[in-house]
Amino acid sequence: MSTTRNACKLCSPLGACIVMRGIEGCVPLIHGSQGCATYIRRYGISHFREPIDIASSNFVEATAIFGGRDNLFRAIDNVIKQYQPAVIGITSTCLSETIGDDVKRYLHEYKVVRTKKSASNDVATPIIFYASTPSYRGTHIVGFHEAINSVIETVATSSGTEFANGNFEDVRINLISGFVSAADLRELHEILSSYGVCYTLLPDYSETLDGGVWEEYQRLPAGGTPLRAIAAMSNARGTIYLGNAFNKDRNGAFYLQSKFGVQMCAVNLPIGIENTDRFFETINMMTGKTMPEKWAVERRRLIDAYFDGHKYCSGKGAVLYGDIDFVTAMRGFLSEIGVRVLVAADGAEVDFVTMLEMAADKKPDFVIGNSKGIYLARELNIPLVRCSFPIHDRIGGQRILHLGYRGTLNLFERICNVILEKNQNSMQSGWTYV
Ligand code: SF4
Repeated sequence: MSTTRNACKLCSPLGACIVMRGIEGCVPLIHGSQGCATYIRRYGISHFREPIDIASSNFVEATAIFGGRDNLFRAIDNVIKQYQPAVIGITSTCLSETIGDDVKRYLHEYKVVRTKKSASNDVATPIIFYASTPSYRGTHIVGFHEAINSVIETVATSSGTEFANGNFEDVRINLISGFVSAADLRELHEILSSYGVCYTLLPDYSETLDGGVWEEYQRLPAGGTPLRAIAAMSNARGTIYLGNAFNKDRNGAFYLQSKFGVQMCAVNLPIGIENTDRFFETINMMTGKTMPEKWAVERRRLIDAYFDGHKYCSGKGAVLYGDIDFVTAMRGFLSEIGVRVLVAADGAEVDFVTMLEMAADKKPDFVIGNSKGIYLARELNIPLVRCSFPIHDRIGGQRILHLGYRGTLNLFERICNVILEKNQNSMQSGWTYV
């Protein structure tokens, strides 16, 4: 039996809740204890710096023995009463899975009970979808993709017109994003919009988790992928799936392909020139259009920056960690700029203690990943380049741009400047020009 010390991963329902906050009018409901909901709220709030309402079915000792059916019914009723949401996303926890709660059956029973009471209901029943996310089976990125798959299975219809108001254009594509920042989602919007095609970006927490200031508190912030856009995914020409956490059986893009014949293409997160080129080529192929000139300009600017900065980062060594989608894309980018990846860990298998043991004699120059690597960086006495999720110890984590040519440029400059700063600080006299 192996143990994990200082785990380099987050819990599975956390990933699911982030997806749920990226669907318009959706309230996440955790089927489990208050502690799970509090932990997830805490992580989300400290990264996004926004209030994040997450409901809970509030398990207590008796629930763990007799099951959580009644708690779940009460929780759904309360959420409907308080939020009047268009959607409720339910996510399971270690405890509800361990005691064997059959949430799918409960939801079927709930619908029957609610239909019987419908005459006395003055609030419409929302769409409810369920993601099974025991944390002992996968990390936050597994929960993230599970929730995407679940909402697609529930909402995407055979015609796709039920919610789409018939507003179809000739070309519609789907983009299923990985667990990226709010700024990344805005970049993806800008890229897709520049092609002049109709698209569904799922999930989309670019505004719900990084919106502007409010005059009054909003329980359900504006934004998110509209239900009608999710419904219309079945009518798209193709689906671009960003990431590698690929489970064929529980994958929204694969479901759309097998059920509705919507062609799917899985590509790495567009970080680095090569990955971003692949991403644009895939959009070109799916839309039948060519990349707009503005992105070619950004690509040239990025290459120019590589020329300017390569002498500072080339040959340096890095310790890289994070979720599998992020690590795979970053690895390609780092090798593209001449950085040697000495240790790469996706968190599912390798914890921070093991990472330290692996990195100690390799003399890395910097660590790159989320805020959880701060102790690793301190032990190694090297800087940490903060990116991905979560960023707890700095502000602006939700606005770090990683994707596309502009995101790559941002990461490249952050890495170069961290190396320069370390060199500068290590010299007594310092220097003022590079
Ligand atoms: S008990 Fe499981 S689901 Fe709850 S916070 Fe811990 S890892 Fe996540």
